[in-house]
Amino acid sequence: MIELIADLHIHTVASGHAADTIRKNCEIAIKKDLKAIGITDHGPGLPGGAGFVYFYTLPRIVANIKMPIKIFSCVEEDIINKKGELSLEAGCRSRLEIVMAGCHPRTWIARQNVKTRTKAVVNAITKGYIKVLTHPYRTNNNIDLKPVLEAAAASGTALELNTSKPGDRAAMLEFLEKCGNNRNPIIVSSDAHVAEEVGTFTEAVKLLEETGFPEKLVVNRSRESIKSFFGVKWD
Ligand SMILES: [Zn+2]
Ligand SMILES: [Zn+2]
Repeated sequence: MIELIADLHIHTVASGHAADTIRKNCEIAIKKDLKAIGITDHGPGLPGGAGFVYFYTLPRIVANIKMPIKIFSCVEEDIINKKGELSLEAGCRSRLEIVMAGCHPRTWIARQNVKTRTKAVVNAITKGYIKVLTHPYRTNNNIDLKPVLEAAAASGTALELNTSKPGDRAAMLEFLEKCGNNRNPIIVSSDAHVAEEVGTFTEAVKLLEETGFPEKLVVNRSRESIKSFFGVKWD
């Protein structure tokens, strides 16, 4: 049975539309026996998202919370143009341990057609701006998965199997099959907007097992795979 030891996509009140604090999310994660979490709030590209000063301070916050769980400083960014650039200043983003991005309503990318949206996502991946593309297959903001998966495989970017917005089962199965065939690393994460959602992995694990998804492509399966994939410290 595949074990998932970390939930790397968790929102807090800093996102503007999520319920809980970093500490509350830690408490639930510890109860669920997770070994690490990622604090991955929305950036300034999403209306109501957190700004520069929050992300600038986040590494200090997560380093100084003394709780028996590893906390990574992360962001879920938005792409702001066709070049694949992101909303937060590069100097601020580079202080964070994991940069993710996704397509969200009421942002620049939501107003584009599928072709332009896909091109922007491919550029963000190819240029190394992001290390994870969140919820790549379920959204109202569709992208063409084929070029995205190719770019992600070539540049070592992970795709997310998102357990709080799973979409229909057929879409998830198709997504996993494509990632498996194409050797795309994935992360399984909750995208929690309330602490009770942290680490809700049961259905996803069943699906991975049912589809025979290669375990070594699941990045959040072990401390070593997280450290080597993201190049993060975790003592
Ligand atoms: Zn959100
Ligand atoms: Zn998202």
